[in-house]
Amino acid sequence: MNDLISYMNNTLGACQCGAVHFPLTIEKIALGEHAVDQELPAYIKASSFQHIAIICDETTGRIAGNRLESLLAGTANVSRIKLEANPAGDVTADERTLVKALIDVPIDADVLIAAGAGTIHDIVRFCAFQRGIPFISVPTAPSVDGFTSAGAPLIVNGTKQTIQTKAPLALFADIEVLRNAPQKMIAAGFGDMLGKITSLADWEISRLRDEPYCPTAAGITRKALDQCLSRMDDISAKTCEGITSLMESLILSGLVMLMLDHSRPASGGEHHLSHYLEMKALENHKRQVLHGAKVGCAAIMLADVYRSLTERDIGDERVGNTMRSAYEQLPAGEKMAEWMRHVGGPVSFKELDVDAPLLEEAMAHAHNLRDRYTGLKIMNQYGLLPDIRQYVKHGRG
Ligand SMILES: [Zn+2]
Ligand SMILES: [Zn+2]
Repeated sequence: MNDLISYMNNTLGACQCGAVHFPLTIEKIALGEHAVDQELPAYIKASSFQHIAIICDETTGRIAGNRLESLLAGTANVSRIKLEANPAGDVTADERTLVKALIDVPIDADVLIAAGAGTIHDIVRFCAFQRGIPFISVPTAPSVDGFTSAGAPLIVNGTKQTIQTKAPLALFADIEVLRNAPQKMIAAGFGDMLGKITSLADWEISRLRDEPYCPTAAGITRKALDQCLSRMDDISAKTCEGITSLMESLILSGLVMLMLDHSRPASGGEHHLSHYLEMKALENHKRQVLHGAKVGCAAIMLADVYRSLTERDIGDERVGNTMRSAYEQLPAGEKMAEWMRHVGGPVSFKELDVDAPLLEEAMAHAHNLRDRYTGLKIMNQYGLLPDIRQYVKHGRG
């Protein structure tokens, strides 16, 4: 997988599209059956780190924290920080958790290890950024594409906002650990990748507003998506090859965001809907649904909604043409639902306990979360919001 770093530097790094692309600062990506056991201690030693602080929660402490602690005990001082869940039972990247984690990181820690999935990585990358020290990623589930990016979606004052912090110095992922992750987390990773179908189309739309666009970055994200779709059977069966493919796709998508310093190719209307629903769940003290599950369901619905927009005459030729070119080729929602079901993920908002009024509210307001031009924004701008109930009625709303 170190090839992947040079691949990215040689392709996106050499891209002449005119937009700024940052060279990767990630030193090492190790993905394999014993990547953590075999490669992490040597890496820590070679980097001369003196005091490692492992950050995990109750569950990932059991899955990875204990093992990391004993594995690294001989190489440096090792501390362990356990993140606590909120009253609803979730660890969230909110002010309370972030400040507590910052306080708990020992003053002389010179590297952090994020042992967990997406949220733990967001908390750790924020802490590493604030403390001015590097962090190492040790994912415990292939559930999101954010492991290798620098953006940390945080909950501040109840609002989800993504701030640019820092990417990991290195990533070590044990395929056996990832394979043993709950099916719903694997499906969530697949759902986050399924979201690229609509996010890539929305990135095309953003060109109407002259937002930065890079064909090479779009191509690499598309390649990651295609890799994931072509290995669907293996992902569903949790084979070593399937989970490696899924994780590679997620890592690739994250690296693209990192080099662009924004998340446009990987996050469009489907992500804004997901973020909105997450904020509402927090507000109502409800348990969170996995990010990729919401993104997957939103992409399944938006693919149909967006495609139907291409048949509308909105009285603006330029917008109409761009929508047709971006959305006409989107796969049918039913097809995407079939894929998602195949890997064991939810396909309808009903399954996520999101009812029609809440979804309607999200469709009307989620686009305000980010100043990005998307189909979601166009629908609101031109009064084209669909009757959401038809999607609920068909079991996929
Ligand atoms: Zn995502
Ligand atoms: Zn470019």
